[in-house]
Amino acid sequence: MKAYNPHEIEPRLQLAWEEAGLFCVPENSDAPKKYVLEMFPYPSGDMHMGHASNYTYGDVAARYAKMQGFDVLHPMGWDAFGLPAENAAVKHHSHPAIWTYQNIETQRKSFTRMGFSYDWDRKVVACDPEYYRWGQWIFLKFWERGLVERRNSPVNWCPSCATVLANEQVIEGRCWRCDSEVEKRDLTQWYYKITDYAQELLDDLDSNVTAYNRSGRRLYGEGEWEDRSSLKVGDSGRFRFRFIPEDDDYDTVTGSIRIVVDDDDDYEDLDLTIGEINVTKTNNPRRLASYLNKLNNAIEAYNEDGRRVYGEAKWTSNKKVEESGKFKFVFVPYSSKYRTVRDEIQINVN
Ligand SMILES: [Zn+2]
Repeated sequence: MKAYNPHEIEPRLQLAWEEAGLFCVPENSDAPKKYVLEMFPYPSGDMHMGHASNYTYGDVAARYAKMQGFDVLHPMGWDAFGLPAENAAVKHHSHPAIWTYQNIETQRKSFTRMGFSYDWDRKVVACDPEYYRWGQWIFLKFWERGLVERRNSPVNWCPSCATVLANEQVIEGRCWRCDSEVEKRDLTQWYYKITDYAQELLDDLDSNVTAYNRSGRRLYGEGEWEDRSSLKVGDSGRFRFRFIPEDDDYDTVTGSIRIVVDDDDDYEDLDLTIGEINVTKTNNPRRLASYLNKLNNAIEAYNEDGRRVYGEAKWTSNKKVEESGKFKFVFVPYSSKYRTVRDEIQINVN
């Protein structure tokens, strides 16, 4: 067998794909459609192995769908309009425009050499006026409708990057990018009044009760709030839910969760408890035990803005759930801004 020679085979095939327009997406076709989009990279340098792996997953998904007969829209672009790009240019003693477009070209060549199936006619570059004019346009639409406002408010500030960080970008009090200590700073900022739509969003959350089996696989089924009329954004309260799995191997679970909205100004504290959970005893003791695992993921925490705080919940009681009793759990938020919560839950086995 002839040895695989990537330098011979890959450029030849890539050229053939390009000449055939294999990845160009027709707009009027009867084929079913699929949109595959990966996160756009920052053009702060050439690609690294993290990019190579990330964009390979997307490419596999896109090619798989294409081979199944879908018309696949698989575009690429650059998140090129921000302080990371500007800081990288400053570091390399270059003008941001020159530095950014040079890197975009370098990355585009690397993407091509990887053989990714992008429709390059659809590429977007966030720092192109042709692109950001639409951001400006939609901002004005929000402004006209009273959906943006300016307020003073404390933010996470990295003095070294000279930029604001999202809570998720602060790891143990330090910047995720440069490891500098993050400070709190009062800044005038623009806010979108997304809270105007919060209730609507909540009303549509019928299926947000998810369940998992003990190997961590998500179970499909229907989850709903039984008393959602009392579920209001910003309110603390106890809300009953029911989860009906589609698979006969699992039984219906009903329970209640109490969400406590914290009033602390710094919202460092995360208050959360769970209410009672009632399960029906089955002939299968393993099934009963698996309720606990399923419900790990039903322990959710919210900060005072009503935004869900991501983290991991674990049951810490060792005793088996064969009889009714109180079971301890711990909720560890991913962000160090929030305290770990320990609490217990009453489980009634009927
Ligand atoms: Zn930083």
